[in-house]
Amino acid sequence: MIDAPQQDCEPPSGQDLSSIEVVLETNVSDNNVFSRTELNHTDFQVISPEANAFRKRFFPQASEKQWSSWRWQIQNSFANFRKLSEILDVSSIDDYDFLAKSRKLPLRITPYYASLLYGKPKDYALTKSVVPSKQELIVSPGEESDPLHENDMCPVANLVHRYPDRVLFLSTGFCSVYCRYCTRSHMVLKDKKHYGIKAWQTAIEYIRNNPAVRDVVISGGDPLTMPDKHIEFLLSSLRDIPHVEILRIGTKVPMVLPQRITNKLVKMLKKYQPLYLSIHATHPDEITPETAEAFKRLADAGIVLGSQTVLLKGVNDSVETMTELMHRLLKVRVRPYYIYQCDPIPGSSHFRTPVAKGIEIIQGMRGFTSGYAIPHYVIDAPGGGGKVPLLPDYYQGREGNYVILKNFEGKTFRYYDPSS
Ligand code: SF4
Repeated sequence: MIDAPQQDCEPPSGQDLSSIEVVLETNVSDNNVFSRTELNHTDFQVISPEANAFRKRFFPQASEKQWSSWRWQIQNSFANFRKLSEILDVSSIDDYDFLAKSRKLPLRITPYYASLLYGKPKDYALTKSVVPSKQELIVSPGEESDPLHENDMCPVANLVHRYPDRVLFLSTGFCSVYCRYCTRSHMVLKDKKHYGIKAWQTAIEYIRNNPAVRDVVISGGDPLTMPDKHIEFLLSSLRDIPHVEILRIGTKVPMVLPQRITNKLVKMLKKYQPLYLSIHATHPDEITPETAEAFKRLADAGIVLGSQTVLLKGVNDSVETMTELMHRLLKVRVRPYYIYQCDPIPGSSHFRTPVAKGIEIIQGMRGFTSGYAIPHYVIDAPGGGGKVPLLPDYYQGREGNYVILKNFEGKTFRYYDPSS
């Protein structure tokens, strides 16, 4: 199951995890991950009419309260094709087992997110982004399992140190929904459980011993799928380090499991300011009454919200869709931050657009909507070169003492800028 050496950021498979851990087993064959009390406990109350209709049809035994419990959502996720076929036409996939075994990236969709896919056309954007397809079996030139070479940049387990002043903390391999284009498909869900607190100690020590590190991005997997006390252990351990100024959490949870944003979680997160959340957003249809409530809670607590979007062919690769997504994000108080070119993981060619498409999208937004709505379009350079921003050619060069500029309408202007 694990194809890279353990020191290369892999979870400590088979090790005796410490007694302070509450290891969230997420094996789909285990129906008793959480206690009955936990499944009935939530302070999240928003449920849209569409989601409620879906609940009544496919989970008639679940109360609204249970549906609104993030633990119930995880425990009742769609994690195999048989269950998924109850709500979606997956008849085009004629060999489920083959697909499941040949891919390292598993299938997992929360009932809430499944309710967004239900009743939509086969080629619906969100369906493409989370339902496995046979196209994933086609490996194209230039694709590799760890395209950013993050495994080569791990000074200790579960930590990537690529830039001088910041590190990426790989806190867990678990996600509540698996995106078919995931850059970290080589590491997510190796053990069907969270790594646990003991597995983080060397990474925390590394940060403590490196005063140049002022910014820690907690990612994975999805950190917000962990229990509150695990998240708090990590945040408090990092906040205790004097030179760590900024904490960031990369997550898709508010989009796919908004019920996770409980008042209790938010109250805890609020203690660790300045705290930034980078939200993985894919499509405007992800902004629902449930996600709006999640973002309201986070923003009201003073947590800074930014978005990250992967540019995906047939999912969000148009000026209209991207502009609509960015507008809706701003309305729920999330500032658009990055659009990423899709990384070349094996079997991802059906998702990748030409780079020209990304530039076309930025060009189609700049000048036509406010700057707040326009993210940076970047390529994460293969092999670990870091993020490279790409812009349309607004700067056209120099003519003597003038800089030649092209505006959003394609008109040319000369700006006096003596070089001496
Ligand atoms: S939520 Fe993030 S880490 Fe998890 S599968 Fe999607 S892209 Fe990968």
